[in-house]
Amino acid sequence: MSGLTLLLPSAFLGLNLRSTDRMTLRLRKTRQKDAIRSAFERAARPLSPDEALSAAQGIVKGVSVATVYRNINSLVAERWLSIVEVPGEPSRYEIAGKGHHHHFHCRHCGRIYDLPGCVLPAVVPTIPQGFELTGHELFLYGLCAPCTSLTP
Ligand SMILES: [Zn+2]
Ligand SMILES: [Zn+2]
Repeated sequence: MSGLTLLLPSAFLGLNLRSTDRMTLRLRKTRQKDAIRSAFERAARPLSPDEALSAAQGIVKGVSVATVYRNINSLVAERWLSIVEVPGEPSRYEIAGKGHHHHFHCRHCGRIYDLPGCVLPAVVPTIPQGFELTGHELFLYGLCAPCTSLTP
């Protein structure tokens, strides 16, 4: 009888600890995902996973590369992030739903910046007869302001 009473509290304690651990883990995961979201919001430009990693690490401790990749994938699946394909470069990610815009790629630091607006319909290439235009991509290259001040 006394053996049973001794056993019960420890069993309950064990259970509580496990559920506390699960809660802590879930809380940490939520906090990390929030940090990755804030990284994109604060940057206000498309980020590479590496850039998102260092930005998120500045917000919450213990964010790993794997965490960043996993969360970027899930944010893309949730359509919170969209993929920015950069010619000859690893993809960047930006907050979805910004509407049609273009990007500026700094050749010095590699950062990608948003360019509001569009050249179309001012410059429309000749589209062969019978073709139907459904979209376009345009990348502008150069040096961003911080990099121009670095180069003499
Ligand atoms: Zn730059
Ligand atoms: Zn355009």
